[in-house]
Amino acid sequence: MSEVYDVAVVGAGVVGCLIARALSRYQLKILLLDKEADVCCGASKANTAIVHAGYDPKPGTQKAILNVGGNAMYDQLCTELGVHFLRCGTYVVAFSDDDVQTLDDLLKRGQRNGVPGLRIISREEMIRAEPHINPEVRAALYTPSGGIVDPFGLTIAAAENAVANGVEVRLETEVTGLLRHEGRVKGVVAGTQSFRSHFVVNAAGVYADEIMRMAGLDGFTIRPRRGEYFVFDREMSPVRSVLFPCPTPVSKGIVVTTTTHGNTMVGPNAQDIESKEDTRVTAEGLDEVLHGAQRLVPSLDPRAVIRVFAGLRAVGSTGDFLIEAAREAPGLINVAGIESPGLSAAPAIAERVVEILREEGLALYPKSDYNPIRVPPPDFSELSHRERAALIATDPRYGRIVCRCETVTEGEIVAAIHGLVPARNYDAIKRRTRCGSGRCQGGFDTPRVLEILARELGCPATKVTLNGPGSELVVRGTKEVDH
Ligand SMILES: Cc1cc2nc3c(=O)[nH]c(=O)nc-3n(C[C@H](O)[C@H](O)[C@H](O)COP(=O)(O)OP(=O)(O)OC[C@H]3O[C@@H](n4cnc5c(N)ncnc54)[C@H](O)[C@@H]3O)c2cc1C
Repeated sequence: MSEVYDVAVVGAGVVGCLIARALSRYQLKILLLDKEADVCCGASKANTAIVHAGYDPKPGTQKAILNVGGNAMYDQLCTELGVHFLRCGTYVVAFSDDDVQTLDDLLKRGQRNGVPGLRIISREEMIRAEPHINPEVRAALYTPSGGIVDPFGLTIAAAENAVANGVEVRLETEVTGLLRHEGRVKGVVAGTQSFRSHFVVNAAGVYADEIMRMAGLDGFTIRPRRGEYFVFDREMSPVRSVLFPCPTPVSKGIVVTTTTHGNTMVGPNAQDIESKEDTRVTAEGLDEVLHGAQRLVPSLDPRAVIRVFAGLRAVGSTGDFLIEAAREAPGLINVAGIESPGLSAAPAIAERVVEILREEGLALYPKSDYNPIRVPPPDFSELSHRERAALIATDPRYGRIVCRCETVTEGEIVAAIHGLVPARNYDAIKRRTRCGSGRCQGGFDTPRVLEILARELGCPATKVTLNGPGSELVVRGTKEVDH
């Protein structure tokens, strides 16, 4: 008879990984599943990376409560997990009388939500803080508790720490059905495999409504809303914090932000679309993003753009996060409609899910050997000369630079391939090491990473993929071309 898990978590985005980690504090058998070849392949890898303060959501909503609660947990969480997080502050910028009125409304809403330190600042103060801002600025709402995080770093670190504390991760495992017994959900089906569990947590992002439908729940639907972005070369770094325009009913607007690695990023726009896989970027969308961003920072020059990408928000039909035990399908906990500010709220969502599981009867006995600390692998680019020399002395592979733009070494790539949540394709290495994310966008490093992956995984180069089966990087050696 196959083993029975206490909890199976479906979806290894930031929400699922933090839930798995929060549950790993207890004496439980936990399974974390994802359909992709790595963790962090959904919305968690393609967002604005802002840890919102919480002035935006409507007071009393799950979004408001969990955003403010999640934001407050970020310092401790990122210290424990060794993740880049910067409380750099955020600004909502007003250009007109109407905008100034909006700032006032946001200030009051933020105060009702319990956001600390909010204040409206003058044009002069705004220009002092961000000298490249459009000089037509009239005033701004300053939020000192707002910040930025490395969302890949956070998701991967949460998954690794969960594994270190006993969680089992299964990738390339798409949940296609639910096991039911006498009306109760008793596990998940993934193609020809099945996994029995006392509880199933549905954290499947934009697909969470489809998991709900597998349990016969069809009252909640998710519509994808695409957002497109530009990333600029680090030489074009006009801002040190996060600049928002005044929000609209569907979006917080096109933002100009710095990232934890010092790149300027701009976006997103907001387009309701049909397909849950459609992460295309479009010429019209990118135009909209550029013009929106230049309204905030006119000097942004598109010639310095190094990358474009798009992410899909999981917009739920109720307009709020849905986080609850399913009454008509006991055993199933839904964590659905986690659109923005889901990244900011994720640590608080994880704690809420633990409480729901407790209320539903899951016995939670703390583990004596739980370790919340994850020591991040060495980041060569951040080390001093002395530290670099010491690292190379322990392993000469740290002396071989594979990615010149981001100074990533072979040692770091090998460590990622053999990590607790192994990086088994090019994009997985990129998310862990930044290899290929600099100015040349992989032009220099890709052949070398391909060789390293093939060698470490013990497979031919033709089996090495960009992001999982079907995305093989090469089809055959150049000398094997058919004539
Ligand atoms: C454009 C954009 C901008 C955003 N900006 C911000 C921001 O600045 N700040 C903020 O707080 N939030 C922001 N968000 C929201 C934030 O990114 C999300 O709320 C958060 O990433 C959701 O995490 P998740 O784990 O719920 O979903 P995801 O990261 O999408 O993870 C869901 C996982 O489920 C897996 N899955 C789906 N179906 C199945 C299945 N059948 N079987 C197995 N696995 C399955 C997927 O592969 C995926 O890995 C933004 C989102 C977008 C799209």
